[in-house]
Amino acid sequence: MRIASLGSGSKGNATLVQHGETTLLVDNGFSLRKFTQRLERFEIDPGTIDAVLLTHEHGDHSGGVERLCATHSIPLWTAVGTARAVLSAQFEYHRLVAGQRITIGDIEVLPVTVPHDSNEPLQFIFHQLDNGKRLGILTDTGHITRHIVDAFSCLDALLLEFNYDVDMLERGPYPDRLKQRVGGSHGHLSNEQSMDLLRRIDTSSLNCLIAAHISEKNNTADIVDRLIRELGSVPAPVLADQEAGFDWIAI
Ligand SMILES: [Zn+2]
Ligand SMILES: [Zn+2]
Repeated sequence: MRIASLGSGSKGNATLVQHGETTLLVDNGFSLRKFTQRLERFEIDPGTIDAVLLTHEHGDHSGGVERLCATHSIPLWTAVGTARAVLSAQFEYHRLVAGQRITIGDIEVLPVTVPHDSNEPLQFIFHQLDNGKRLGILTDTGHITRHIVDAFSCLDALLLEFNYDVDMLERGPYPDRLKQRVGGSHGHLSNEQSMDLLRRIDTSSLNCLIAAHISEKNNTADIVDRLIRELGSVPAPVLADQEAGFDWIAI
């Protein structure tokens, strides 16, 4: 299995997961033109994407999904609540239900419920069917639940949100209401909350850690990198970038 990102952050997210003959796309917050440009360097024809999985309706994840799926006839999978919030009434999709695994080609997908200020937010764990490696993606989550700790333990790879530094958010440029939203229990994960998750889950098999959805205003890649390296018990992180995402990482 391998993973790549076309961009990560509040201006747009799109993540590729590939194994065997199967290519999945998690979210697309980019216009069709931007998405197509950004996809070029990965040498994938958009028409060969087997499925798009949509986590929730916020524009940085959903903004380009319907147009992309319609243009290239790509099947879309999402929760009913998300579909109602963001898709055109007649748009056909496959329904995802938290806790119910689906198989698309060579990859099994487990949707996991997370607390976030949207209708029916899901994050995902991918399981490659031939040799059992598991990859988790967790962003857009307001706080760490017991359920998340259970679901995201014993992974081989983890893409984890490190959204904001508490002090930088507090002192930063966001209006108070937005500060409360981001920092609230259904907003985003702070560096400390994500570090707490890394301490609570079993990371003994983790050989790839990607820090993602890093705020450009309320955090820096350097702070995140230092915090994770200080922990010692997990691999040095790959830092996902808003503009560049990250290149293929083999798991
Ligand atoms: Zn987001
Ligand atoms: Zn969101």
